[in-house]
Amino acid sequence: MVEMMRGEQYRFEFIGGEPCLDFTNTVGGDRRVDPSEHLHGYADLVAWARQGELLSPAQGRALLLRAQREPAAATGALAAAVELRETLFEIFLALAEDRRPSPQHLAVLNRALADALPHRRVVQSGRGFSLGWDDTDDLRRMLWPVALSAVELLAGDHAAPVKLCGMRETTGCSWLFVDESRNGSRRWCSMKDCGNRAKARRHYRKVKRLD
Ligand SMILES: [Zn+2]
Repeated sequence: MVEMMRGEQYRFEFIGGEPCLDFTNTVGGDRRVDPSEHLHGYADLVAWARQGELLSPAQGRALLLRAQREPAAATGALAAAVELRETLFEIFLALAEDRRPSPQHLAVLNRALADALPHRRVVQSGRGFSLGWDDTDDLRRMLWPVALSAVELLAGDHAAPVKLCGMRETTGCSWLFVDESRNGSRRWCSMKDCGNRAKARRHYRKVKRLD
């Protein structure tokens, strides 16, 4: 709270393993019961993309300036971002639960992919080249790499499974991540937070003989 009053930026976490999952994790808490929104305005979207290194500092500043000049367009971009985020959550939750994502959700992702692809560019990086993005102040530009990462996670040859934090236990957390552990045993978004709370709960039940 003190931090917020000083105007410091919220520090997002990047534990999902892919930008598309990190983006779904901009909602904290249990989504069904008590979701906690971290994208309140367009500036939060830019802050997330900056912290996740999807934008350079200069690109971030350019977007904030444009958002000031065009507040209605910035509000539209935030709404599009939240729609994409909720869609990605539904698609990857379905995957985590071994269900098929709905055609409506895939249609939203395909629209985001169609928005992104015309901006794909080969760019110079050092002495070589890399696949990057059109350098523009398009207010939705951070959604392009998010959409592409979702498509690659769905359609690429990525073998690691997508999981929901604490799948078989109520945790108060709805974060998604790619389980890249060798034996597929990762259960928690973070051992420090959710993992530890689950351990404490198990201990409490044992002491109280609730099991
Ligand atoms: Zn968690």
